[in-house]
Amino acid sequence: MTVENVMIIGSGCAGLTAAIYTARANLTPLLFEGELVGGQLSLTTMVENYPGFPEGIMGPELMEITKKQAQRFGTRVLSKNVTRCDFSKRPFQVWSGDERYEAKAVIVSTGASARMLGLEAEQQLLGHGVSTCATCDGFFFKEKELVVVGGGDSAMEESIFLTKFAKKVTVVHRREKLRASKIMQERAFKNPKIEFIWDTVVENIHDPKAKKVTGVLLKNVKTEKKAELECQGVFVAIGHEPNTKLFQGQIELDEKGYIVLKQRTQTSVPGVFAAGDCVDHVYRQAVTAAGMGCQAAMDTEKYLEANP
Ligand code: NAP
Repeated sequence: MTVENVMIIGSGCAGLTAAIYTARANLTPLLFEGELVGGQLSLTTMVENYPGFPEGIMGPELMEITKKQAQRFGTRVLSKNVTRCDFSKRPFQVWSGDERYEAKAVIVSTGASARMLGLEAEQQLLGHGVSTCATCDGFFFKEKELVVVGGGDSAMEESIFLTKFAKKVTVVHRREKLRASKIMQERAFKNPKIEFIWDTVVENIHDPKAKKVTGVLLKNVKTEKKAELECQGVFVAIGHEPNTKLFQGQIELDEKGYIVLKQRTQTSVPGVFAAGDCVDHVYRQAVTAAGMGCQAAMDTEKYLEANP
């Protein structure tokens, strides 16, 4: 079996940047694209804060050209999902189903996924009126009344985007103050199609039996008062969780599941490096993930020089 120099798990900003750097260092990286090709940016619309694009660039396009850039220098991209790994042996072992791969070094860049409310109806109606991605599904809600849950930048971004299609968007937030950045707050407050319901949580979503969203049951967390709100769609935008289940028991994770770094981008296992949203719960930006991907690649290069 061929022992790869480096395998990269994940194809978001961190993974693809790590691929560009390791490929340009002649390490011919093998990159597993995973389930969400291009990572979270492939679910967004306009990216306005990535340097080098004064007019902005669409998220999926940014990821497509970054992948091309990585391939140009010799990155081999596999459209596969890593399902198991063993970092206790060297070379490190990684499986995609029954197929096994081996490498001297690994860069983990598996990112994060949308957090859910945890309601039974939410699961039953996912794809039938409940969504975590306005970019993907907004188009299906022309002239509809929608609820967006959350008070962060994602909730504001999704709400503003959805007003392009929807008749009305109601943001339901569990506190009386938004977590979103000032500029996003201002844009949302200025938008005549967006209304806010404060101190309130979504307790249930109707109507799984009808296989469509007809409304939500709301509860004011201060007064405990309940109320029904009619709507035809619910967008859950309450943050993300790191995609690190695969690495439980293999590398050290913190209590929230984020990968713990020991020395620069090295994880608790020398030779296994990590970058991007699976590590970083503070900045979580495309450009910071890309930056970390570069760091992980350079750390990998040094590690392989010292451990040929
Ligand atoms: P976030 O900042 O963690 O915000 C999550 C929001 O959901 C918070 O308002 C939180 O309420 C609420 N929430 C969490 N769990 C909940 C639950 N179980 N029920 C009800 N509400 C719940 O996540 P995010 O908005 O996805 O943003 C993540 C990062 O990406 C941030 O750093 C953000 O700046 C960045 N981002 C930037 C942009 C942009 O600049 N264009 C766009 C999207 C994201 P509390 O406030 O009460 O905690």
